[in-house]
Amino acid sequence: MNESIPAIHIQQLTKTYDGGLTALKGINLSVKQGEFFALLGPNGAGKSTTIGILCSLVNKTSGSVSICGHNIDTDWSRAKTCLGVVPQEFNFNIFEPCWQIVVNQAGYYGVPRDIALKRVDILFEQLGLSEKRNEQAKNLSGGLKRRLMIARALVHDPKVLILDEPTAGVDISLRRSMWQFLQERNAQGMTIILTTHYLEEAEALCKEVAIIDHGKIITRGNTQDLLQQLNAETFILYCTEAITNRDNLRTPDGFVLSQLDESCLEVEIDKNHTLTDLITYLQSQGITVGRIRNKANRLEELFLKLVAHD
Ligand code: ADP
Repeated sequence: MNESIPAIHIQQLTKTYDGGLTALKGINLSVKQGEFFALLGPNGAGKSTTIGILCSLVNKTSGSVSICGHNIDTDWSRAKTCLGVVPQEFNFNIFEPCWQIVVNQAGYYGVPRDIALKRVDILFEQLGLSEKRNEQAKNLSGGLKRRLMIARALVHDPKVLILDEPTAGVDISLRRSMWQFLQERNAQGMTIILTTHYLEEAEALCKEVAIIDHGKIITRGNTQDLLQQLNAETFILYCTEAITNRDNLRTPDGFVLSQLDESCLEVEIDKNHTLTDLITYLQSQGITVGRIRNKANRLEELFLKLVAHD
């Protein structure tokens, strides 16, 4: 496929639900092929509505949407073959064996059964589901059910994979291995789009992000570039001993320092100063820093700065 054709191209998209609520107010969004992209936003912002429209589960009110150059209104059958979707809710028949759930989906996309069976074996191996191949889906843990949904979304070999809150309810170790799986797929050229409310997940995985709020895209760009907008970062410092000379502890230029308990400090550092500047100052006051952590994930700080609070 011509690489200049975007994986997803959304223009002036609006959605007003029956009852009059306008969930999307004219969204423009383009995602290039090969991107690892996060659509972020608070609850009710319009993320699921956008995804619902992309996979034709929700009717749009106006605007246009193309997937890999195929308009969803005029060329849905080709648009849908480019798309794999992992919805938030488990929506398979829990009494069917895992392999059958995936093979049935392949049939829906016209993939011959012998090819589908081979793909099931490969996908189950990659996703750590091989042992569960013949189990009824109801016997799987939440994390494994989510993986089954991913296998099902990939069985027709789509170019674009969309995941709505992929790691909600998934325990930490499974979450990490799911991240690795998605990163490998992306490295092989698949476009991956996810919604998540774990901003740590978006910062770790997604090179590109958009933030949606009240049905409008309020920012869109390269994750690291957007994070440059932050003028300051806040850290928590755990000192090795109780701070006894707190009267002498002044806040040097570029820092806002406050003491949380006898050996713990919170400090905001502006863009023009470094952690080394701070630690050097603290050392001059006889204070040794043992451990340090970001108070909030950096994307979370940006998010809080940009998103309107009701
Ligand atoms: P998000 O996924 O970002 O949490 P949604 O797209 O689910 O947001 O919802 C956007 C807005 O549309 C919310 O105000 C929500 O209550 C409303 N909404 C979502 N689905 C429906 C529906 N089927 N009928 C009416 N309103 C809806």
